[in-house]
This record gives sequence, structure tokens and C-alpha cells, in this order.
Amino acid sequence: MEESALKRQLAKVTVIVAVSSIVLCAAIFGVLSYVFQTAHEAEHAQMKTEAQEYRSRIFKQLDKNLQILTTLSRAYEVSGTADREEELRDSIAKAGQVNSFVSLAYFSVEGNGILYTDGQDAWLTMTLDTCAEEARRAVEQSLQGKNAVSRMFDSNVYNQKVFVYSVPVYRNGAVTGALAASDTLEIFEDIVNGDTVMGGERYIHLLGAEGDFLVRSENTLVKEDVSSIFEGPYLSEDTKASAKEALSRQESMYGDFEYLGEKCHFYMEPLGFNGWYLFCANRLWDSVSSFGRIFLLVDGVFFFLLVMIFILLYYQYYNFRKNSALLMRIAYFDPVTGAKNTTKFDQEFQQIRKKQEYYSTVALDIRNFKGINELFGKRNGDQVLGYLKQVIERNLGEGEFFCRDTADRFYALLLDTEEARIRERLGSLIQSVRDVTSRMEYRYEISLYAGVAVQGDREKALMALKSIQNTHHRDVAFYDEELHEALRRKNSIESNMQTALNNREFKLFLQPKMSLAGDSLVGAEALVRWQKPDGSYRYPDEFIPLFEDNGFCAKLDLYMVERVCEQLRSWMDVGLKPIPVSVNQSKLLFADRSYPNTLERIVTRYRVSPALIILEMLESIAANDVEQINSQIEALHEKGFHVSMDDFGSGYSSLNMLYQIKIDELKLDRAFLRKVSNHNDEERRQIILEQVIRFAKKLGITTVAEGVETQQDRDNMAALSCDYGQGYFYERPINAEEFSDKYMLRRG
Ligand code: C2E
Ligand code: MG
Ligand code: MG
Repeated sequence: MEESALKRQLAKVTVIVAVSSIVLCAAIFGVLSYVFQTAHEAEHAQMKTEAQEYRSRIFKQLDKNLQILTTLSRAYEVSGTADREEELRDSIAKAGQVNSFVSLAYFSVEGNGILYTDGQDAWLTMTLDTCAEEARRAVEQSLQGKNAVSRMFDSNVYNQKVFVYSVPVYRNGAVTGALAASDTLEIFEDIVNGDTVMGGERYIHLLGAEGDFLVRSENTLVKEDVSSIFEGPYLSEDTKASAKEALSRQESMYGDFEYLGEKCHFYMEPLGFNGWYLFCANRLWDSVSSFGRIFLLVDGVFFFLLVMIFILLYYQYYNFRKNSALLMRIAYFDPVTGAKNTTKFDQEFQQIRKKQEYYSTVALDIRNFKGINELFGKRNGDQVLGYLKQVIERNLGEGEFFCRDTADRFYALLLDTEEARIRERLGSLIQSVRDVTSRMEYRYEISLYAGVAVQGDREKALMALKSIQNTHHRDVAFYDEELHEALRRKNSIESNMQTALNNREFKLFLQPKMSLAGDSLVGAEALVRWQKPDGSYRYPDEFIPLFEDNGFCAKLDLYMVERVCEQLRSWMDVGLKPIPVSVNQSKLLFADRSYPNTLERIVTRYRVSPALIILEMLESIAANDVEQINSQIEALHEKGFHVSMDDFGSGYSSLNMLYQIKIDELKLDRAFLRKVSNHNDEERRQIILEQVIRFAKKLGITTVAEGVETQQDRDNMAALSCDYGQGYFYERPINAEEFSDKYMLRRG
């Protein structure tokens, strides 16, 4: 995966985790708030319901007491007892004893009354004027024909707070008096103190109009002795103000108070008479709030866990980044110079290619880097690569990049397509490498050469580079159509060569080798022709150099040796005297130790004498290790093969080489035969040729003139005592059958 893609993925994961965590936290918070709110509302509703139930129970109690008085008054109405004082006293005393009233009284419409006190079993005679204001008002209402309940008042008779119920007494349809009973608040205490009050978890007080406790529940949470809800520090100032306001308006109210650090809820419900209130307090709120606290705690723990997960994720992310940075370095960078590698280069190249057209790829190589490694050691070689990396880096502009492939090969991408400018830039880069390396510890001039592909890739740049690999006069080459065609051909040849070999498409052609003395046949040279399935031919120049490069040449040469042996065998089989045949052999084979044995196996298989096989090696092979070549030649001689040196005089041959390398035959390159226009040079050529032939003769080496095209060529070489000649003058290379017909069979 690409580095930027990896980073994008990481960022995505982080965002997803962060967002989902926040959403989860918010959701939990939302659910908790909802639960909390619902619990709160449910609690309010429950307090209200219960308070109202208690209100109705209290009303029932009041009603019950009024009922008792009403029943008594009805009895008096019917019997006329009120008119008979003795009887009246008797009846009131009895009623007082069986009911729980504190006192029972009868007042006539004139305002005269008699009062029976149950506790004291005593009678009091009084007028309405002397009664307490609250009692008098209630009685007066009954004298008007109404049932009434008085406000609470301090009774000077009983020294406690009492209130009065009063009902009218009728006689013949008219009010004749009123029956009144006084009672203390104790009648409510059973109700208000009952353990059943709100399941025992809540409690109810009965409040007077001023918020004073009329009946205080025994279960009260606040244990201190207080006479009013406003006393003590329990209600906040704000709550007190709201409560006073509610009391004055006789409205219900919710509120809360704190006791010993615990929060409780309360609800006040007006009773609807005397300004009295039911004050309902909820201890359960405490547990509801602890329930809330548990939820908050859970949320807290969850949040803590989230934070931990985040820390863990971050740690993982950090490690991941660290490791991926390391992996990236391994995957994308060259460990020797720290430059990018080709993988990274290709990735960036693809991006550039998509974005723009003005780019060129450059392949850079050091000439003879192998020599630096061999001379100064690998460490210094690496140091040179390091310098090279720095110089390339310095010579690149904005947006340009480079990489190191293997060994001394670098590639750079330039944002430039103009040939002149690229040449100038590369010229100065090559010069700065020279400058830097000339200042190094070891003096060794490093020269760089480059291949450029304008709007092309690495492969094309490399093609251009390879085209000047073996020339020393050009430092920069550009990829063009010619190179493109060569590349196409190269690819086509390489992909077909093995099949062609299997299908025997490589044909044996022979060119006769003639004795210059008597123009008689002395041998032949085997030359390969690639006959394609369509019948057309490919010539060795097209594919041999390529096969030399890719190593396939060794295979092909052994194949050709085999074809030659096959031919020799078939001549012998028909009774013809075989002639020695030369076979061109790749220099790769001369480096292979098993080569002599392989050849031996082939000639043995065809029962052909190795003396009939002349192995031609190229003159350039002498540039290799002479000792090693001689030992190989020796091994070949031991097996009975002959060795010839081909194309002598085409390259850097020297006479020295002739006695150093133990060859049997010397083939003089046709360049020797070509006359030169300058008379002086012509003379010198002639002298050298003469000397070479003489020198060879002295060493017992047979000489062959290649490229004998004319009678003059032939005569000239014959005059120089060259042994044999080969060339179009005699015959072009012809296929083996034709050769057999023309030369072997006719010869008899
Ligand atoms: P070479 O071994 O020097 O072969 C002689 C080349 O000169 C042949 O070219 C031949 O056709 C050509 N030639 C012969 N007489 C004349 C002449 O009078 N005038 C001129 N201008 N040319 C003449 P060819 O067959 O195209 O082969 C080219 C080279 O390819 C050979 O040069 C040889 O080095 C290589 N080669 C050919 N066959 C094989 C092979 O089987 N194995 C290897 N390794 N190399 C081969
Ligand atoms: Mg040859
Ligand atoms: Mg030759």
C-alpha cells in the first residue's frame, strides 16, 4: 500500500473511533438524563397522587365527625329534645362519651349555650359572645343553616389548639340552635403518622396556613424540634420564598431541601379548608439520586475506559507509524545511499505521468564502476555511490526526483523535455561528479554517462544508456525511434529464441575455405541462419550480439557444433571424405570449464573425429585472462580439437597475442584486404599483413584470408603466402545440402 494511502486509512480509523466514542458518550448521557427525568416526573406524580389520597382521607374523617353531629341534630329535630334542657344535657353527655370529641355544645338561636367537656365530665354554661372568635363564627354559620368547620384556635379551656365543627338544629323547618363539637388535631395523627404512609419511605406533615406544623409525622427525616417548615437551615432562601408565595395563594408546590448532605423532594398540597396543607417529603429521592449517581458513575467509568481506549489506540497508532516508517524505509529506500529505490520511483513516476507531459526519465551509470570496486574495495565503492547520490540530489529542481537501482545505476525524473536544456543539465551534473570525485581520498576519475527518454519510462532511458555503453566519446544519448525499433526486435527475438531452437529453425550454412595455392577445397565455415516459419532468413548480426548478452549464444553454438557433426557423419555415411569445418564459438564457452567435455560428448555421439572441428573464437577474447584462455585451449587440444582466432585485425589485436595464445589458425579480418586510398597507408598495411603472416607461419599457425571478394584479393593474399582464402570470390555461405551437392559429391 502506498504511504499516503496508509496515512489516510489511519486518519479515517481515528476519526471513526473518535466520532463513535463521542456519539456513544452522548447517547449514554442522553439515556441517563431521560431515565433521570422520567424518575423525577414519576416521583412527582406519585407524591401528588398520595398527597391527594391523604387529603381525601382527612376529608372523610372530617365528614365522619360532621355526620355524627348531623345525626344527633336530626334526632333532636324529631324528638324536640333541644327544648327540654334536662333531656338535652343527658343526650349531649352521652354523645360526648361515645365519640372522641374534646367537647360538645348546644347553642340556641339567642346565643345561649351549654358545653360538655368529655375529659372533665363537666358542664359549662356560656353565651356565644364569650366564645373564641373562630368557634363563634362557625356556630353563627350553623345558626344560618350551614355545616361549618372552624379555623384552629388556642382554647383557653383546654390550653391547646382546637377547632370546631358545627351543624344547625332544626324544629319544624326552622333553625332553633346549633350543635358544635371541638376537637384537637390528634384525630389526624393516626393518618399522618401511619407507617403505611407512602410505603413507609415517605412521610406527610399537616401544615397550618403559615407553614407551621399542625401534625408532624413521627417518621420525619429532620429530627430536630422545629415548629415550622421555615425554621432551620433546611429550605434554601429561594425555596422558602416560593413556599410562602404558594401558601398565600393556596397553590400546590414542588421543592427540595437538604438534610445532612442528602437531597430530598417535597410536595405541598392545599387541603382546601383553614388554609391547611399536606406537606409530603420523599426520602426515596435519596435513593433515586443515588441511582442517578450510579448512572453517572457508570458513565464516568465508561468515559474513563474510552480515554484508556484512546490512549491505547494512540499508542498503537504511534507504534504503527513508527513500524510503518521503518517498513517504508525498507520497502522504498536504498540502504546503501538512502536514496529512493525503483519501487518508490515507479510509484511517483506513475503520479507524474498522470498529471503532466513535460517530463523525461534519465538513466545514469558510472563507466567502469566495477574497476572502482576492485581497485579500492567495496567500502570506497559505496562511498562513491554516496557522493553520486548527493550530487544528483543537488542538481534536481522542484518536483524532480531520483532513485538508485542496483550497483551504480541511478534514475532521475526531470521536469523538462527540451533536448538542449537536458543535455546542458546532464553535462553540468557529469562535470560536478568529476569535480567531487577528483577531490576524494583516492584519485580516480569517475565519468558518468546517461540515457534519456523524453516522456519515456525507465526501460527506454536504459535502452538509450546501453546504446552508448561501449562508446567512450558520448556521454548522453536520447531514446529515439531507431532505438525503439531495436527494442521491439530484441523483445521479439528473445521471446522466440528457445522455440526456434526446439523447432530447428537455426540452419547450418557453409562457406568453403580454399587453398590459395591451388584453389582447392580445404574446409568450410559453419554460419548460422535463422529461417523463420514464413521462410525468410534472419542473419547472425541481428541476433548473435543479443544472444551473447543474454547467454543464449552458448546453447546455440553447441547446437551448431552438433549440426556440423551431423553433416560430417552423413558425408562419411555415404562414403565421402569429410573436410574440417570451422564453428564460431561464443566467448561465454571459453569461460566454461565443462566446455571441452561437452564438445567431446557431441563428437563421440556422432563418431566424428575432433580433428575435423575447428573452434573459432573472436579476437576480443584476448582482452580476458590470457592464462585462463590458454588452459582452456590446452584442454581442447588434448581432446583433439583445433582452435582458430577469428577477425584478427578488426579490433585491438597485437602481434604479442599471437605467441601468447596457443591457436592453430589465424583468420585475417577482411578489413586487412580492403585497400586504402592513401598510398602511404596502403604500403604500411601491406607491410603489417606480410609481417603477421610471416610471424604466424613461424609459430606454426595456419593463416586464412577472410572476405576474398576479387581475383585481386586472392592474388594479393596468395602473393603474401597466406595459406587459405574464404570469401564471395569463391562462394557465399550456402545451405548444407547445396554445399554437399556442389562441393562434396562433385569432388567424389
Ligand atoms: P565471421 O565468423 O567472421 O564470418 C564471416 C562473415 O563474413 C559471415 O557473415 C560471412 O557471410 C561474411 N563473408 C564471407 N565472405 C565474405 C566476403 O567476401 N565479403 C563480405 N563482405 N562478407 C563475407 P555472417 O554469416 O553474416 O556472420 C557474421 C558473424 O556472425 C560471423 O562472422 C560470426 O562472428 C558470427 N556467427 C555466425 N554464425 C555464428 C554461430 O553459429 N555462432 C556464433 N557464435 N557466431 C556466429
Ligand atoms: Mg568465423
Ligand atoms: Mg571473421
